[in-house]
Amino acid sequence: MEVCPLCNLEVLKEQQIVLKNEKCMFVQIPQEVLVGSGLIIPIEHRENVFERN
Ligand SMILES: [Zn+2]
Repeated sequence: MEVCPLCNLEVLKEQQIVLKNEKCMFVQIPQEVLVGSGLIIPIEHRENVFERN
């Protein structure tokens, strides 16, 4: 089974949590093209963006 890098943030060493609440978090990886960009991801694993509980 493949390790989900969004549930296991240590997989991507440079990935940092910028903001977090009880439902989701905003993570960034330092990069030069889109400065300040990142991902908003749910705390609980989802297979795709359309999956809700
Ligand atoms: Zn996951």
